[in-house]
Amino acid sequence: MPASLNPVFSNLPISIFQQMTGLALRHDAINLGQGFPDQDGPAGLRAVAARALIDGPNQYPPSKGLAELRRAVAAHARHFYKLEYDPEDEVVITSGGTEALGASILATAVSGDEFVLIEPTYDSYRPIVETTGAVVRTIKLGPPDWRLTEDALRAAIGPKTRAVLINSPHNPAGRVFSREELEMLARVVCETDAVVICDEVYEHLVFDGLAHIPLATLPGMRDRCLRIGSAGKIFSLTGWKVGWVTGPRSLVAVATKAHQFLTFTTPPALQLGVAHGLTHEMDFPLALTKRLQQNRDVLTVGLIRLGFEVQPCQGTYFLTAGIPKLTNEKDFAFCERLIREAGVALIPLSAFFQSGTPDTFVRFAFCKQKSLIEQSLARLEKYFAGK
Ligand code: PMP
Ligand code: GLN
Repeated sequence: MPASLNPVFSNLPISIFQQMTGLALRHDAINLGQGFPDQDGPAGLRAVAARALIDGPNQYPPSKGLAELRRAVAAHARHFYKLEYDPEDEVVITSGGTEALGASILATAVSGDEFVLIEPTYDSYRPIVETTGAVVRTIKLGPPDWRLTEDALRAAIGPKTRAVLINSPHNPAGRVFSREELEMLARVVCETDAVVICDEVYEHLVFDGLAHIPLATLPGMRDRCLRIGSAGKIFSLTGWKVGWVTGPRSLVAVATKAHQFLTFTTPPALQLGVAHGLTHEMDFPLALTKRLQQNRDVLTVGLIRLGFEVQPCQGTYFLTAGIPKLTNEKDFAFCERLIREAGVALIPLSAFFQSGTPDTFVRFAFCKQKSLIEQSLARLEKYFAGK
């Protein structure tokens, strides 16, 4: 047995999403755990990619991405947020938001210096930061409002902070950070030399007429922010893993160098499909958001009836709910039991916290057809009625 593998990874379990999906398959449970839609995105977009697989190009595209997609990503940022990025050197195409995050973290984190993460934290951030040797400083948000306060931010940020990573709309809390919170973040960050990595993969999935505000649109912030996007989320094609980073050329240049040694590039046929999507299929995420909002409402009503303490949800695929009225168990044990006995898979929220707290909340993914949400509620109702 080799003794000296990288402890960051050797000490990690497989991801909670794989664990719960594995259990769901084994027990034939409906999977409201891992967040993936059960209907694929636009056929026109997929047809463009399918044609390109046959006709080409099929060899290495430029490492920074095909010009068609870089131009489409820049046009998307201009159209939705009036953000100007030069497609030549302020956009880099990556293999999903995950790689975009990895490249952005590798571009900014420095051994011994500090890196601020906000818990609950999406699972891919911390291991990459830790493997650089940077010191993670954690801000903890709590239910029900999951608000970012100035006191919490000031306690974590300082002269040694290289970067802050913020995710809005937020997985798993379903929070869309308000202008007030973002202005406060901008003000505090501008007192330091820190860069902000903005995970905005759920940018279009915002409910109740709320607006997603990219931090980069606030005064003085464009040149400090690396923005992460994902075609997987915009177009319900999570298996495609096409993402991007946009930002000022000084930062994107370094992220592009990290990207060239992570994957170097991303399948060109998929890039062409996504370029078509960003240019011609933007009605899709708008319609998806309407359906998701309806699902959220159906799920909310049903879960409240069952005794779950449903937390507010402003965006993303995800809803969180407290379980103390239903059980004395911790979230992991409750989720395992529901998979085995009720036939519904969820995600325990403590998986998003390093210290494992709070441990009485679960996450539901509602990026499914309404009928499946209703079926899941019926299974839960039958199960709890029989208890
Ligand atoms: N960030 C967050 C918050 C996510 O939920 C996801 C979901 N997978 C990603 C990044 C990764 O995006 P992708 O699937 O494009 O790699
Ligand atoms: N983003 C998805 C979620 O939060 C999971 C993606 C994955 O399994 N890597 O459910």
